[in-house]
Amino acid sequence: MDNLKRDFTTVYVCNNCKATTPPPTHCGKAMELDDNLLFTCWKGQHAPCCGRESQIKYENCCENPKLEIQLSQMLS
Ligand SMILES: [Zn+2]
Ligand SMILES: [Zn+2]
Repeated sequence: MDNLKRDFTTVYVCNNCKATTPPPTHCGKAMELDDNLLFTCWKGQHAPCCGRESQIKYENCCENPKLEIQLSQMLS
């Protein structure tokens, strides 16, 4: 799982437990998270490419994740 490419320009922050999760990438861009906590390729669902499915389940950080997208801060 940890060899997934990540997009660090945006992160999903859980308002419940404060966990931050950079979205995985697909087809060169960040995947989008839907209401069912499923990351989907920005192109939409399609046949697996680059050896990976176009939908990836979010790994729950807590019992009731409330995710919000945020721009990640560049460290200065
Ligand atoms: Zn959480
Ligand atoms: Zn894709």
